[in-house]
Amino acid sequence: MSELDRRSALRSAAAMTVGAAVGTINAGCATAGSAGSPKTPFAVPDTYVPIAGSDMMFPVRRIYCIGRNYAAHSREMGSDPTREPPFFFQKPTDAIQNVAPGTVADHAYPPLTKNYHYEVELVAALSKGGRNIPADSALEHVYGYALGLDMTRRDLQRAMGDEKKPWEIGKSFDHSAPIGPFHLASATGPFTKGNIWLKVNGQTRQNADLSQMIWSVAEQISKLSQAFELAPGDIIYSGTPENVGPVVRGDVIDCHIDGLPGLSVRIV
Ligand code: MN
Repeated sequence: MSELDRRSALRSAAAMTVGAAVGTINAGCATAGSAGSPKTPFAVPDTYVPIAGSDMMFPVRRIYCIGRNYAAHSREMGSDPTREPPFFFQKPTDAIQNVAPGTVADHAYPPLTKNYHYEVELVAALSKGGRNIPADSALEHVYGYALGLDMTRRDLQRAMGDEKKPWEIGKSFDHSAPIGPFHLASATGPFTKGNIWLKVNGQTRQNADLSQMIWSVAEQISKLSQAFELAPGDIIYSGTPENVGPVVRGDVIDCHIDGLPGLSVRIV
């Protein structure tokens, strides 16, 4: 199948999913990939994440990330976890790097950094949106969960932070969001506890429990929805535990969350 055929097949599959399963928040807007798209002078790929056990793909609208959501990580980043309300940043949708379970995907060491860090995170994917979503019903908005990496050019993030400038260059660069397939929430149940770990070259670097999150996934959705209207296709990286650290070319990162398949990348 040619690249164009593949893309158009994905687009039709996704359009059917969207039409069948979700609401109308984007009706009338220029959403990518729907039937009747405007004629364009060139093609721009849409972003999808595979759905485990299905031939459908999850269409990604926005990537939200929560900062400093584990107390020990907050302290290692120089913050006081007892006083800080949750804060969020975004990565561009095309920062997604899909990683198939059972494979070790090549992940290119990015330009400009000399301190490239891993952050293992639980990712929640939404099939329903809204504003001011109450925490006690927020999980009804979750379609599925995946294991992801919030890769970070730490030196650039810190330098920009020191100058009170945006984190973009440290967090929102190309391929900065490796992710495994989404697993249906109806099959996995909520991820409120369970081991989360990351190894580099077989050595444990991060090792914590999801119950140590300061803001649960439900609370993150609720807080986010006060600041932004959430929509189907939004995904949320839920923060990383302590002991983030650097990798160099040749390193292999393996990560794990209880109840999800592992995720592995090799830095090249
Ligand atoms: Mn993170």
